[in-house]
Amino acid sequence: MNLVRTICPYCGTGCGLLLRVVDGTAVATYPDREHPVARGHLCIKGWTAHEFIHHPDRLTSPLVKKGDSFKEISWDDAIKLAMDQLLGIAGKYGGDAVGGLSSAKCTNEENYLFQKMIRAGFHTNNVDHCARL
Ligand code: SF4
Repeated sequence: MNLVRTICPYCGTGCGLLLRVVDGTAVATYPDREHPVARGHLCIKGWTAHEFIHHPDRLTSPLVKKGDSFKEISWDDAIKLAMDQLLGIAGKYGGDAVGGLSSAKCTNEENYLFQKMIRAGFHTNNVDHCARL
């Protein structure tokens, strides 16, 4: 058994937790009593933080919709497709026609870069974060 100290991925509160790892698989979540935010407490979402890691339904690669089904594509192709579509919409209708929603599962630095890309790249303030939704 191994306890891995990490941060809950579910919201921007950022509670500290410990993942119990057995043979490379996360099997349980415990609150981190030494963490300055959680102080030994987690909400119900935090207690289940280990459950999605190895879930068979977890998406691990980008999907693009083709008709009624989804096709797996590479990250490079997914990023290019998204940028081509967003730039096309912004070029035709203006920057305010697009927007971005970021994630509490990203780091502060990633969220900063994301809002910078939306504001500076598309000239719009249509950017927000899932913790406010
Ligand atoms: S344990 Fe609950 S409150 Fe804490 S970060 Fe996770 S989801 Fe947010």
